[in-house]
This record gives sequence, structure tokens and C-alpha cells, in this order.
Amino acid sequence: MVKAVAAFLTAIERELGADAIEPSVEAVERYGDTTMPSGGRRVDAVLLPRSVTDVVTTVRLANEYQVGLYPVSAGHNLGLGTRSPVRDGQIVIDLGRRMNRILELNEELGYAVVEPGVTFQALHDELVRRGDKFMISATSGPPLGSVLGNALDKGAGYSPYFDHFGTLCGFEAVLGNGSTIRTGDGSLDNDTLPNWPVSKYTIGPILDGLFAQSNCGIIVRAAIWLMPRPPVIRTFHATFERDTDISAIIDAIRPLKLTNFVPTLFRVANDLYAIGPEERAENLGRRPGAREITAEERRLLREKHGLGAWQASAAFYAGSEGDIAPMLARVSSHFLNKGAVRIIDHAQAQLIPSLLIASDAFSGRPSTAELRLLSWRPGGGAIWFLPGTPMSGRTAAELDVLARGLFAQHGFDYIIMHVAGGRFARSLYLILFDRRSAEECRRADACYRALTSAYATRGIGVGRAAIDYHGLHMDLQMPAFQQAVLAVKRALDPNGVIAPGKYGIG
Ligand SMILES: Cc1cc2nc3c(=O)[nH]c(=O)nc-3n(C[C@H](O)[C@H](O)[C@H](O)COP(=O)(O)OP(=O)(O)OC[C@H]3O[C@@H](n4cnc5c(N)ncnc54)[C@H](O)[C@@H]3O)c2cc1C
Repeated sequence: MVKAVAAFLTAIERELGADAIEPSVEAVERYGDTTMPSGGRRVDAVLLPRSVTDVVTTVRLANEYQVGLYPVSAGHNLGLGTRSPVRDGQIVIDLGRRMNRILELNEELGYAVVEPGVTFQALHDELVRRGDKFMISATSGPPLGSVLGNALDKGAGYSPYFDHFGTLCGFEAVLGNGSTIRTGDGSLDNDTLPNWPVSKYTIGPILDGLFAQSNCGIIVRAAIWLMPRPPVIRTFHATFERDTDISAIIDAIRPLKLTNFVPTLFRVANDLYAIGPEERAENLGRRPGAREITAEERRLLREKHGLGAWQASAAFYAGSEGDIAPMLARVSSHFLNKGAVRIIDHAQAQLIPSLLIASDAFSGRPSTAELRLLSWRPGGGAIWFLPGTPMSGRTAAELDVLARGLFAQHGFDYIIMHVAGGRFARSLYLILFDRRSAEECRRADACYRALTSAYATRGIGVGRAAIDYHGLHMDLQMPAFQQAVLAVKRALDPNGVIAPGKYGIG
């Protein structure tokens, strides 16, 4: 351990107490574990603050001793870096372990004020305990992920409150320079702030965005808006037979979302994304040395699960079954006219595990089921590639051919889900590989870089990136943007103590 780190930890122990430092060497090492092709990172220590005051002290000491702090709220950023810093030799500040209280739950105005360690599961459980009147916007990722951490990384769900950063309102942030600010209507110099959790726009610039995917400060609390739970939620699922149907699916969804006739986003999952959690590639009885799945193996899996090359899923919310019935009839005939081969209703979907995942997501119920997708291939390697497409069937189809070709060229199974709105769909590609094989790691890395370059050539970047590729993506941004981001970083964190290198900044 370098001298500065040792001296810093001695100062932390003196000011915060020995229990503010994770004692287990093995536990500290695990914070550096990732699912990335490059392997793990060296983490020098893990800190466990108990309060905002502890965080302020930690940042002050980090400036004094010039050490890098990497904040995590729950550290379940699976396929994007888990809880590991971008670079070796940083100190993880695990906010979630001891700062995990729901500070306020306001059922009149529909918001919760949370500390970083409040998980999706914990907030859901508390809402259920209080009578299930409000629902969280669930992800289909880890229920033990942090509501705040996910939102700060621009995570998303599937309900009308899908934009998690957008549903945060009013932060308290400890800046890299050691000062503490409140944003939104919390920035008034007063101790009583009734509008802080309900109004984002106060006088002056909106500073909240400085904390999305950034390294300017550490967020210690925020409000998140909650949607009243509708009395009845009914999902519907349209399956399509051919890979090329993606064009028709995107064009079919667009008018349903532009008018908000359908209130949720659409999950448009290909066969392997939908079926992957229920199957293992190694159980397909494949020839030795086989790489990606064959067309015939995919066909057999689809047949076994009663699913298609694509499945488009969404949900209606209403007061009663009767209110929903005509809407379901209308979308069913809409999709059948656009080439769907099967409409699966809510009741049938409850019996199909892959569609149950969608149903839980639209209903704000956390679930671990989709995490089984990570075991489709052995060896634990996973990278999300997260570009997107305008909601134009022709463009989506062109990008599908492009990405499908690059996955095949690099020998990986094509696993993709589009999360579609009216104008834009985020495309979630998952590269699964065997981390125990150096050759597969090289191929996975090459595949990611080839996808990045092919999309960037077409003017398409990503919405979120795995830690191996933060620098790669920032380097693709226009120089003036990079300079502006760096100038902000230097102004708010002059010694560069917060997560150096995160998102290619500092
Ligand atoms: C199968 C599968 C499905 C998934 N589905 C989804 C999905 O539907 N939607 C989705 O969004 N994600 C999904 N994920 C990705 C990911 O697992 C989740 O987004 C997860 O919630 C992120 O981890 P976390 O919430 O614990 O955040 P953390 O790991 O705690 O933090 C995430 C990032 O934010 C920064 N950060 C965290 N807290 C702070 C803070 N207090 N101050 C400053 N910076 C901070 C961290 O440095 C880190 O970069 C999925 C993953 C898998 C494997």
C-alpha cells in the first residue's frame, strides 16, 4: 500500500473510528472483482461511512492525503463494473452499508427521500408494508441494487417512471472540493424546505445533471418520485417469427407510444434474451468447440418455450379488468396486423418464466429471475453494450443486421433487448463470455470495440458503459464537450479525488 493511503487510513481511523474501515482483506479484494475481459482492479481499502458528516470528513482527508475515492451505493452494477473503480489503487467508499435509511416516505405527494443504501427491494417492501399504495419503478436487474446508485448511473425501468435520474428530485451532494450543496429548491438558504422533494427548478442553473455518470461529488441523499399503484395491471406480449420482423415491430410500437396509448415502455426481447434465463448453452448437446448457437438450436429453443425470434411486451394500467379489455383487444389486432404470430395474455404469461420477468418489471416488483441470464454461458464474463436506435423500423433493422454480423464474426451469441418508447429505443446488448479463457476475453473485448466503432461511425453513442470502456467512449465525444466536462470536474474537484478516470474524466 502506498504511503499516502496508509497515512489516510490512519487519519480515517482517528476521526471516524476503526469500524469505518472494512477489516477483511478478502472482502476488500472482492470489491475489485468485475465481469470484464480485463479482469479485476486493485482496491486499496473500503470505507463504510455512517453519516453525511463522515462523508464530508472522508472527502476532506482524501484532499489532504491525495487519494482517490470511488463511491458506490450498493455496488450491484453487474456487467458494467459491479463495484470496482475504473482504475487500480482507489479506495471504495461504500455508502450503502451503513447509510441505508428511508428518511421520509410521503404518501400524500408520492415521494421517498432515501440514503444511498436503500435498495429497490427495501423500498418495495416498505411500500408493501404500508399498504401497497405506491410502486417503485423496478429494473429487471438486481433487487439489491441501490435506488440512488442506479439513478445516478442513468439506469432505467419500464413503467411511466422509467427515467430514474429524471424521477430524482433534489440532491444533497458532497463535492470533491469538500463543500456540501443542496440542489433544486433545497438550495434556498433555509432549514425548512417544503419544495425540495417536489420541485426541481429553482432560480439559477440546474446543477443536478452534474452528478449523473460523473465524478464531481458524492450524493448522500435525494428524493425519488413514486407512482401510485394502479388497481389493475395487465401485460400483453406479441411474438414474431423472423429476425427481420424487428422493422415491423418498431414501426408498430411507435404510434402506441407517441400517443401514450400504452403507458409503459415496450420490452422487445430477442429469443436468447427471453429464453436465456431458463436455459444453459452447455446443455444444448452441442458439438465440441462450438461457439455461438446455430439457427437450428435457436429454432428448437423457441419451439420448446413457445416464443418467437422477438417478443414485444408492455402493460396497461387501469381501474378494472373491464377498462383494460378494449385496449387489449385493440393492441392485439394492431400487432396481428403487423405480422405477430401469437398474442400471449397476462394470465398465460404468468406461466412462462421469461414473460413473468416482464410482468414483474411492469408491476414494480423486484425479481432476481433475469440475473440467471448471466449463466447462459459458463465462466462469468459479461459486458453490456448500450447504444440505441430512433424508433424507425428501417434504422433499427439496419443496426440489427450490423450488430448481428459483428456478434457472429466474433463468435458470440446474439442477445439483445430494445426498451422502446415513442421516439427512441435503448438497445441492451449482452456479450457473455468465459472469463477463464484468455482467448475468449480477447474476443469479447474485440467484439465490444468493433460494435462501438461501427455504431460511432453511424453517429450513435452509448447511454451507459462498462468500466473497461469509459475512456474509449469519452474519447469519441467532440473535443469541446470533453474540455467542458473536464473544466467542470476541475472546478468542483480540483485535486481529482472523486473516482479519477470514471467516464473518462480526470
Ligand atoms: C440481467 C441484468 C439485468 C439488468 N437490468 C437492468 C435494468 O432493467 N435497468 C437498469 O438500470 N440496470 C439494469 N442492470 C444493470 C445494473 O445491475 C443495475 O443498474 C444496478 O441497479 C446498478 O447497481 P447499483 O444500483 O447497486 O448502483 P451502484 O453500483 O452503487 O452505482 C452505480 C454507479 O453510480 C455511481 N454512484 C453510486 N452511488 C453514488 C453516489 N452516492 N454518489 C456518486 N456516485 C455514485 C457509482 O460510482 C457507479 O458508477 C441489469 C443487470 C443485469 C445483469
